[in-house]
Order: sequence, then structure tokens, then C-alpha cells
Amino acid sequence: MPIDATKPYDQNNIFARILRGEIPCRKVYEDPHALAFHDVNPQAPLHILVIPKGAYVSWDDFSERAPADEIAGFVRAVGHVARENGLAVRGYRLLANVGRNAGQEVPHLHVHLFGGGPLGPMLAR
Ligand code: 5GP
Repeated sequence: MPIDATKPYDQNNIFARILRGEIPCRKVYEDPHALAFHDVNPQAPLHILVIPKGAYVSWDDFSERAPADEIAGFVRAVGHVARENGLAVRGYRLLANVGRNAGQEVPHLHVHLFGGGPLGPMLAR
């Protein structure tokens, strides 16, 4: 069920629970600002989610409220994960769903990182 991205942050959303270690994930990378793990339902040969460690509902919330060091740390982490997984040379796709129209389901900002093969048209499944 798509979320209302204007609602306050829900401390019990699934990614908050992954960050607290209450739910397992297949971790790819972690640093002080970000955690990256494999999507449980991959939509590409490689489908990694990168999330900031701070409590932000969406890109809209993050870009408005996050301090500069958290924004820089998160953006650098996304690039680092792509490079470390061999995606920079052949290319990859980033996607961040925000709110109902985009079908965002988990109310903690996450960037989807798709790669590992040709990804097809931008919006079709
Ligand atoms: P959204 O539609 O919010 O942009 O994407 C949410 C993503 O989170 C989906 O691709 C979904 O497969 C993934 N997801 C949902 N629950 C879990 C979980 O418990 N573990 C992991 N690794 N991925 C999850």
C-alpha cells in the first residue's frame, strides 16, 4: 500500500527496524551515514537499496531537513556502493519513489540501485 509521504516519520517502519538490527538484511555496505542491502524482491540482476541512517520519510523530507554532512554522506555512499559492486563501468539506474503517485511503500528514504544487465525502458516493469 503506497504511503502518504507527508506523514511524520514512523519509528517502526521496516527499514527503521533493519537499522536497529531487529530484522535481518543482506548487508552490502555500512558507514556512519548510510546502510546498503539487497532488496528482498529484486527487480534487476542486482537490486540494492541504499538508505540514510537518519529518520527521513522520503527524498522530499531528506532534502528539506537533513544537515549537509548527512546529505553528502548519503550521496557519496550511493556512488561508493555502485562502484564497489562493479556497476560504474557498464552503468546502472537510481530510483527513489516519493509518496502515493510513485508507489512508495516503505516510509524511510531509500534509493533503489539497479544494475547487472540491460535495464530496459525507464518506467515500464
Ligand atoms: P518502494 O516501493 O517503497 O520504493 O520500495 C520498497 C522496496 O523495499 C521494495 O522493492 C521491496 O521489495 C523492499 N522491501 C520491503 N520490505 C523489505 C525487507 O524487509 N527487506 C528488504 N531487504 N527489502 C524489503
